[in-house]
Amino acid sequence: MRKRRHARKSKIGLHVFVMFLFICFAAIFIISQMPQLKMLGKADEKININTHYTDRGALLKENGKWTASKKIHSKSNLNLKKIGDYKITYAYSFLGLSKSIVRKIKVRDLEKPQLALNGKADLSLQVGEDYTELGASATDNYDKNLDKTIRISNTVDTSKAGEYQVLYTVKDHSGNETRMSRKVTVFQPVGVIYLTFDDGPRSGTTETVLDTLKSEQIKATFFVTGNGPDSLILREKKEGHSIGLHTFTHDYSKVYSSVASYYADLNSVSDRVKNITGEESKLVRFPGGSSNTISNNYCPGIMNFLVKDLPGKGYQYFDWNVSSGDGGTQPSSEAIYNNVVTNLKTGRDNVVLMHDTNQLTVGALKNIIDYGKANHFAFKKVELDTFPAHHF
Ligand SMILES: [Zn+2]
Repeated sequence: MRKRRHARKSKIGLHVFVMFLFICFAAIFIISQMPQLKMLGKADEKININTHYTDRGALLKENGKWTASKKIHSKSNLNLKKIGDYKITYAYSFLGLSKSIVRKIKVRDLEKPQLALNGKADLSLQVGEDYTELGASATDNYDKNLDKTIRISNTVDTSKAGEYQVLYTVKDHSGNETRMSRKVTVFQPVGVIYLTFDDGPRSGTTETVLDTLKSEQIKATFFVTGNGPDSLILREKKEGHSIGLHTFTHDYSKVYSSVASYYADLNSVSDRVKNITGEESKLVRFPGGSSNTISNNYCPGIMNFLVKDLPGKGYQYFDWNVSSGDGGTQPSSEAIYNNVVTNLKTGRDNVVLMHDTNQLTVGALKNIIDYGKANHFAFKKVELDTFPAHHF
């Protein structure tokens, strides 16, 4: 009896043991079949705003192999156009069990703003001249209207010759910073250049002369005639140049036929200038200059009389000590340029004769200005008390 009971007990123990083993195997099987996921690429990413992002996805382990299975469901709230923290979730479910992994993505503005200087990055000024701050403009990949946040630090001292820097700094709202600088050279002029233009205005050439002077920030002098449109004389005046009188007709046989005739002609051009600009000009240049001999063909000795008579009427006449030769037949802009630069002298006022009616002069002007600037000449406009470079 005891034996039988004992036998039944050990049978139950075996069943329990088998059951236990079965549960263990089942658990091991289920665990081995549990979804396994692996991310490709970094789990934490920081990317620049408004750029492209390629999600490399995740892999699933199936039958012992990692594959990019379609059974992986990914979900993303990524917005590349807005700064923020985002997630991409990769999930897989199996027998009611699910597993997921998460990629964290930070979208940030990682790009520096761009700065562009208004005007030249390399400036030359003569001692005593004003430095005009032209500023800079900024653009950014994300932030708008940064122009007003540009900080400018300036140590330019135009009272002392030397090299200075103007520093421009801009920061976007994410703290990305860009710096730029402008070099300002303050120099003691070695001499003065007065660019003077006769015979205009003339449509087609005077505009270009004015454009060049404007972009080079140089003031010059125009000895005008009765030719060309009023609008060009007005522009010359508005852009700060000096207007002088060169005679109305520029016809030697009329202008120099008598003293009365000279003044009648001078008054005509004077009236024209006054009507256009509202101001009377007392700056005069004779056609052919004060030393011209052609006038003797019409009225011998007239120049001798006029050079003495004009100052009494409040006028000053201006000749030149540098001729561009552009009134004659110059073969090229280069020849005109050479005539000017080889005759410029340091330590004096150089009054340069040119004609804004000549297309070749227009072509030489920028180079002449570049030469003058590079050699530290000052450019000025003629005024009543300017050195008149008299020939006679
Ligand atoms: Zn002339």
